[in-house]
Amino acid sequence: MRVVSTRIELREWKRAHLKKGQSIGFVPTMGALHQGHLSLVEQALKENDFGACSIFVNPTQFNNPEDLENYPRTMEEDLAMLESIGCHLVFAPPVTEMYPEGEDQSRYEVHYGHLETIMEGQFRPGHFRGVGLIVGKLFDLIEPQRAYFGEKDYQQLLVVRKLVDTLHQPVEVIGCPIVRESDGLAMSSRNLRLNTQQRDKADFIYQSLRKAKNHLVGSTVSETEALVKEHFTSQQDFELEYFIIADANSLETPDSDHPKSPLVGCISAFAGPVRLIDNMILFP
Ligand code: AMP
Repeated sequence: MRVVSTRIELREWKRAHLKKGQSIGFVPTMGALHQGHLSLVEQALKENDFGACSIFVNPTQFNNPEDLENYPRTMEEDLAMLESIGCHLVFAPPVTEMYPEGEDQSRYEVHYGHLETIMEGQFRPGHFRGVGLIVGKLFDLIEPQRAYFGEKDYQQLLVVRKLVDTLHQPVEVIGCPIVRESDGLAMSSRNLRLNTQQRDKADFIYQSLRKAKNHLVGSTVSETEALVKEHFTSQQDFELEYFIIADANSLETPDSDHPKSPLVGCISAFAGPVRLIDNMILFP
């Protein structure tokens, strides 16, 4: 496995290794890797000649400086995990390499419409502009044929699809299933920041999604949203930020209380200062 930190080294690796027609499957991450990330890299390795992963805690997607500062950084362990599954290339640049002074970034200024103003976009203003900026740059540098994103960040997956469409980047964006702990908690780098009591109870979020799915069978979208909100008021460990049921393809508000198209339930909740997100397809 080769680990590089500059654009020049990246270009040299490609020149030395990539023969005509060979493909790179790429997984962008912010590190503190877990089985969720590794499942994406494994799929990339299976479907391409080479698997590449980036590790970069992207400052432009953090609206909260404390969150950026406290974001876990475990580079040595990350590299050992990637090596153990046979990843070929890791790009781990410093901030100055991705954001050199004076670089023209206007190409990456995409308008995402309602996708950037609802849910994550509403509570983390500017977040998706930062995601689009870094992912667009990474795609231009790495030039993967395929890129793998977790459905854990459902809204992000739709934003990246729109980015690629708008910039005409020749990369296939592939969504991959959420990997969960045995109690149902979606794996996340942020889980490392939960204390023992919070961790013990954190399946509450997943259970709320399951409750919503069961409830929706016999009731309306708005009744189900209200049920989940109510469920959160019955306990004190987690504070609900939002729970929204949306059209799974567009994230638009469903146009009736009994829609026929696929629906996703998206949730964000705080355990103390730790913000956790999750989602589940609720219908069909
Ligand atoms: P992050 O390092 O949090 O930016 O995540 C990098 C990629 O891993 C994103 O595409 C995430 O959606 C994906 N990912 C994170 N957690 C999971 C999970 N539990 N299951 C599947 N994919 C995940």
